[in-house]
Amino acid sequence: MTATPTAGPAPVVELRDVSKTYPGRVTAVDGVNLAVGHGELVAVVGRSGSGKSTLLHLMGTLDRPSTGRITVDGHDVARLSDRELSALRAQRIGFVFQQFHLAVGVPVLDAVADGLLYAGVPRRERRRRAAAALAGVGLDHRTNHLPNQLSGGERQRVAVARAVVGEPALLLADEPTGNLDSASGAAVLGLLRELHAAGTAVVVITHDRELAARLDRRVEIRDGRVVGDTSGVGADTGIGAGVRS
Ligand code: ADP
Ligand code: MG
Repeated sequence: MTATPTAGPAPVVELRDVSKTYPGRVTAVDGVNLAVGHGELVAVVGRSGSGKSTLLHLMGTLDRPSTGRITVDGHDVARLSDRELSALRAQRIGFVFQQFHLAVGVPVLDAVADGLLYAGVPRRERRRRAAAALAGVGLDHRTNHLPNQLSGGERQRVAVARAVVGEPALLLADEPTGNLDSASGAAVLGLLRELHAAGTAVVVITHDRELAARLDRRVEIRDGRVVGDTSGVGADTGIGAGVRS
C-alpha cells in the first residue's frame, strides 16, 4: 500500500505518523506525514528548534522514530537490522551538513573516495570516481589539498562530492549554506540543483525563507509538525497557512 495519491514507484522516503521524543520528553518531531518522490527538490523550512535536523536524521535513517513508520525505497526501516540499515543508507542516501565534517589532514581526493568505502568498491576505482565527483563540483584542481587549505565554499563542495560519489537516490542537506557567504552559498545551491536535474531527490533543510522560496516544493515545519506543504503529496495545506492537514 502506498500513501501517495499518485501512481508510480514507491517514494524514495516516506514518513507515516512519525514522532520522535528525546529523553527529557522533548517531542522534536510530532506526527509527521511526508513523502518525497524520486527526483524531487524539496525545502524543509522552519525556525531554529522546530525539529528540522531531527527530521533529517529520521529521513536519513541515522535515527529511529519513537512511533510511526519510515520507508526508504519501500523498505520498512523498522524491519531492518542495524547492518542492513547501514547498507541501505550507504547505497541510497547522501548527507551534507552545515559544518562540512571533513577530517583534518585528509586530502580531499581521499575524503571523497572514502564515501565509497562501504559500497565495496576497490581502492583504485574509488579514487577514479572521487576524481570525477570533484570535477563535477569544479574542484579538479584541488584534489591533493587538505581541508584547511580550502575556503568554506570549497569545503562544502568537497562535502557535496563526497555525498554524491556513491550516486545516492536521496541527498539530504542540513543548512548546507549556513556557514557560507552568499556567493559560495549560491554556488552550493547551484550544485544541488544540478544533482536534482540529473535525477537525484534533494531535500534541503533551512531556516532561510529566501533560499526555500527558490526550491520547487516547500514543506514548513513548526514545533515538530508539518504546517504547510506546497505539494499535494503527504499534506495538502498551503505554506504559511498555519493549518494542519
Ligand atoms: P532544528 O534543526 O529545527 O533547529 P532540532 O531537530 O535540532 O531542530 O531540535 C528540535 C528540538 O529537539 C529542540 O527543542 C532541541 O533542543 C531538541 N533536541 C534535539 N536533539 C536532541 C537530543 N539529542 N536530545 C534531547 N533533545 C534534543
Ligand atoms: Mg538544525
